[in-house]
Amino acid sequence: MTREKTELLTWVESLLADPTYAQDPLREALERLYLHHLEEKASLERMVSISDNFQRYAREDQLSVRQRYDKALQRQEKLSRISDGFQQLMREHNIALKEDSTHDPLTGLPNRRMIGERLERDSKDASQRAQGYTLAMLDIDHFKQINDRHGHEIGDQVLVAIAQIIQQELREYDLCARWGGEEFLLLLANTRLEEGRTIVNRLRQRLSKAPITVGDVTLSVTASAGLSEHHVGEDPLHETLLRADQALLRAKRGGRDRSCTSIP
Ligand code: GH3
Ligand code: MG
Ligand code: MG
Repeated sequence: MTREKTELLTWVESLLADPTYAQDPLREALERLYLHHLEEKASLERMVSISDNFQRYAREDQLSVRQRYDKALQRQEKLSRISDGFQQLMREHNIALKEDSTHDPLTGLPNRRMIGERLERDSKDASQRAQGYTLAMLDIDHFKQINDRHGHEIGDQVLVAIAQIIQQELREYDLCARWGGEEFLLLLANTRLEEGRTIVNRLRQRLSKAPITVGDVTLSVTASAGLSEHHVGEDPLHETLLRADQALLRAKRGGRDRSCTSIP
């Protein structure tokens, strides 16, 4: 309220209180006007207060809607993070499962299953594109003696080292699988029998010359190999492999540390 209005009201109040004007005909009209003004003023103040409250509630409501929205957003982000983490875990789990089902746990080489699948594929390719392959079954000579002399654990580590040497020696499109204990099956892609024999002999030489050190044991190994070339249309895991096994047997019987090729 302005100062003028306050002074006016004070003046009116003093006039109404002054006994000099008690009988004045205008006094009653002035008093009614004064009371009416007070009622209007009170009503206006009530409306202002209601409006203020309303605005405050509206602000608070808006704030809480915002807070609820932020919270929901945070919750959703957290859920997304959990879901992403879970999916990543599943992907890793699947990769590990696939790795377990296709690789040998000791040497990390492909296992029988994996080379079997690759052989099926390459055999189909061979019949379509006339690009053959050669199989070589490689068996470490007298491996039992290594276990007997140094123990099974050293034997295990020797197998790991042999697997590494084989992998270093092969070309990237070849495949070497651990077929069984100390037997490795080599798939030499796009390779004729004689070329395969050269590759395998180079590998055997490398094996016999490379000193393998495990703990305080250093040794070297020799290996025998049997090779067979895949013939278009034949069953790789039975016919081609059988001929490689027969050739391996001849290499062993012939005195070991050598390779033999199958009679076509
Ligand atoms: P050969 O020259 O006739 O092949 O003789 P060898 O002793 O290598 O062959 P044999 O079949 O008589 O014995 C294979 C040995 O390989 C016996 C077995 O204990 C060992 N062996 C097979 N798998 C593993 C393995 O995973 N770890 C270890 N340490 N030894 C193994
Ligand atoms: Mg064997
Ligand atoms: Mg052996």
